Amino acid sequence: MFDINKILRPNIKNLVPYSSARDEFKGEASVFLDANENAYGSPLEQQYNRYPDPLQHKVKLRLSEIKGVPARNIFLGNGSDEAIDILFRAFCNPGIDNVILVPPTYGMYEVSANINDVATKKVHLTEEYQLNLEGIAEVIDEHTKLIFICSPNNPTGNSINRDDIETLLANFNGIVVVDEAYINFSRQKTFIQELTEYANLVVLQTLSKAWGLAALRVGMAFASQEIVEVMNKVKPPYNINEASQQLALQALQNTDLVNLWIKETLAQRDNLVLQLKNLEFVVDIYPSDANFILVKTTDPNGIYRFLVEHGIIVRNRTSVELCEGSLRITIGTPDENKKLLETLQQYR
Ligand SMILES: *Cc1c(COP(=O)(O)O)cnc(C)c1O
Repeated sequence: MFDINKILRPNIKNLVPYSSARDEFKGEASVFLDANENAYGSPLEQQYNRYPDPLQHKVKLRLSEIKGVPARNIFLGNGSDEAIDILFRAFCNPGIDNVILVPPTYGMYEVSANINDVATKKVHLTEEYQLNLEGIAEVIDEHTKLIFICSPNNPTGNSINRDDIETLLANFNGIVVVDEAYINFSRQKTFIQELTEYANLVVLQTLSKAWGLAALRVGMAFASQEIVEVMNKVKPPYNINEASQQLALQALQNTDLVNLWIKETLAQRDNLVLQLKNLEFVVDIYPSDANFILVKTTDPNGIYRFLVEHGIIVRNRTSVELCEGSLRITIGTPDENKKLLETLQQYR
C-alpha cells in the first residue's frame, strides 16, 4: 500500500514552511503595511507593487472548471519543470534514493535528478516505444521513490499503453508521475480522472504547449490533496508571478481558440506525414499523438544541416538511443510546414 509518510524525506515531513505576511493576515483591510512593499505603486501602467497570491486561487478555480478536478488537487509550478524539481526535493534523499526513467524520454527528469544528487535507473522503452514492465519491476528497490512516464512521449510522440501505466500505479509503492504535456493533442484520455483511484499518481500538464503560453511559465501537477500540500510546502512562496497569474487566467477563458489551433495542428500533422512519406530519404515516421513527429531518415545530420542553412531548425535526435537516424519536427503553421516540405524536396 502506498503511504506518503513512508516515502517523504524526514526533513520535509518536519519542515515548517515559510510564512509570508499575507499568510498571517487573511481578513479585510485597506492599509497594508505588513510586507515592506512600495506603497506608492509601480513605475508602470499596471501595478505590480503587491506580492502575488502564493497559492494562485483564481487560476486554480478556473483550471478546476476546465479539468473537472477540485482546486485542492491542483499544484501550480513555474513551468511543469518546477513541479518535477519539487517532487525530487520532497521525496528523494540525495545520495540515497533513486528514480526510474524510461528513455528515450524528456530530458529534464535526468537533469533534475542530477541537480538533486538522486540516482537514476534507466529501463529503455521497447522497440515499439512502450514500457518494459518486467525490466522496471527488476530494478525497483527500497530506495526507488519516483517513476517518470511521459505520455504522449517526448521525443517519440506516441502514447504509452494505459494498462501498463495502471499496472505500475497498482503495484509500485512510490509515486508514478505521468507527464501529459502533450495530452491536448492526443486521442487518449487524461489520467486526471484516475486520481480518485490511485493515491500515488501525479499527473503533469502545462500551459506551455497547446495553450501557447510557454513564456509565462505555468505548469500544473494534479495529485492527491496530501501530495499537493507537500508540494506547496516545498515550493518558493511566490513561484507564479502576478503578471503570469493574470494572463493565464485571461487565456483560460479562450478555450475556443486553443481548440481550433489543436484541430488545425492535427490536420497539418497528418498532411505533413503524408507528404514526408514521399521523400526517398524518409525511412519511417512514428505514429504521433502530439504536436510533433519523429522522422527516421537515411542522413539525419546532413538533413539537419541543410535545413539550418535554409533557416529551419528542427531537433536532431540521432544520438539518442532508440532514435538513431531521427529528427523531431514540431508542427508549424501551414506556411512554415510548406516551407519545410519545399526545402526538404530540394535535398539530394
Ligand atoms: C515541454 C515539456 C515540459 C515542460 O513544460 P514547462 O511547463 O514549460 O516547464 C514538460 N514535459 C514535457 C514532456 C515536455 O515536452
